[in-house]
Amino acid sequence: MKILNYINGEYVEPLSDNWLENYNPSTGEVYAKIANSNAEDVENAYKAAKEAFPEWSNSTLEKRSRILIKIADLIEEQLVDLAQAEAKDNGKPLSLALSVDIPRASANFRFFANAITQFSSEAHESTGLNTMNFTLRQPLGVVGCISPWNLPLYLFTWKIAPAIAAGNTVVAKPSEVTPLTAFLLGEICTKAGLPKGVLNIVHGTGPTAGQAIVEHKHIKAISFTGGTKTGEHIARSAAPMFKKLSLELGGKNPNLIFADCDYNKMLETTVRSSFANQGQICLCGSRIFVEKSIFEKFKTDFVEKVKQLKVGNPFDADTNVGALVSKSHLEKVASYIEIAKKEGGKILYGGNKVTVKGFENGYYLEPTVIEVFDDKCRVNQEEIFGPVVTIMPFKTEEEVLNMANSVKYGLSATIWTTNINRTMRISKEIEAGIVWVNTWLNRDLRTPFGGVKDSGVGREGGFDALRFFTEAKNVCIKYE
Ligand code: NDP
Repeated sequence: MKILNYINGEYVEPLSDNWLENYNPSTGEVYAKIANSNAEDVENAYKAAKEAFPEWSNSTLEKRSRILIKIADLIEEQLVDLAQAEAKDNGKPLSLALSVDIPRASANFRFFANAITQFSSEAHESTGLNTMNFTLRQPLGVVGCISPWNLPLYLFTWKIAPAIAAGNTVVAKPSEVTPLTAFLLGEICTKAGLPKGVLNIVHGTGPTAGQAIVEHKHIKAISFTGGTKTGEHIARSAAPMFKKLSLELGGKNPNLIFADCDYNKMLETTVRSSFANQGQICLCGSRIFVEKSIFEKFKTDFVEKVKQLKVGNPFDADTNVGALVSKSHLEKVASYIEIAKKEGGKILYGGNKVTVKGFENGYYLEPTVIEVFDDKCRVNQEEIFGPVVTIMPFKTEEEVLNMANSVKYGLSATIWTTNINRTMRISKEIEAGIVWVNTWLNRDLRTPFGGVKDSGVGREGGFDALRFFTEAKNVCIKYE
């Protein structure tokens, strides 16, 4: 199988005829070749996007909305095929792709199809001065969207949908590690009647194809989700060109668990927030802080629940933890378990690679729980992005807040308490872009999404995304 670029509404081979290998993480086998695109392919994608821009940016909102809804419908119709593709390409349990990834990809298009019809320009009348200002919000032109491998179609469409809804045309690159569903999206867009050139998908590596998008003089904005180091590099490359940037980066999210919480609900959700998608969600709660009076009980109960998680082939209906995305990522995550041991951490459960019968070369790891004794240790400070969590007790609200805020990241935080005063105090003090109280991964697509500190710059979601993908122009009219 060949994963081709989608440029100007056509599937095309990379100009250089260079190809990368695409692995199935659950078997460790190569199952497809991916276009290894370079700057010339990106240039062709840009030209197609540029050509499509005048007509698309002047199309009616009704037309754009109708096409986006059609894309959403087609994704829904192809739920099973797309979910199977995602599970095969990424290693995630098929059940998760069926219930989360693909439905959310469809929801992204449906949401922005509606949002664009409600997005309006503002007017500011300077009363008494015979002056009226109005703000035009115009699409930027050709924009770049670059997404990671953990939630492939989910995050790819989270960028593309608002970009095209707002009237831009797009050059997009999914991760080379998980290109399959982005490849399938091309055909869906054609079927839905998306005009040629509005969306162009270029496959290849970050440093070559991705970098060519970032460095392209005429690509006006970059919406990027990925690691903090890559984000920093992109910011540096784009700064001299004054590009608009939206950067959604890494996280090391804390759970703050107080003794007065609804214990059973907390326990169940904390297992999920630790190990969903093999812990490879930027919003996973990888640092668990528990109030001292319930710490021992939590330790026992949590480990007991984690033991019940089944690590296995993504296609088995009862698999809870699938394969990690790649061999190199498996090795990186496993190396942190060794670091934890050296740092004096205590492995309460897991820590070993798993051999799954019939899938012996797949990249499986036990869900791992580590008790740490110093919140400044590396496993508690650095993003591991796998099925590994740390736990630690705390005595006071002040102490846990200090520990929660002591990392360089600030993406999300989860608080478990029934005390409303504490909820308010911590929500205000905690350094995070998203705070969940007595819940996790509960998303209303209208809300601002993003992080503080090294977790990123800018907000996605709702009108924030539409504002990012438009330029505000104030028109000031003096009348007699
Ligand atoms: P990377 O930063 O390695 O890659 C992200 C994307 O950027 C990929 O498409 C990659 O291509 C591309 N890329 C790499 N180098 C460059 C470059 N020089 N110029 C342009 N593009 C480039 O992240 P991962 O894919 O490893 O994803 C995991 C990371 O993403 C984690 O840190 C996680 O926390 C973060 N993340 C953040 C989220 C958020 O909303 N804040 C949500 C989900 C994940 P390729 O893969 O082909 O090299």
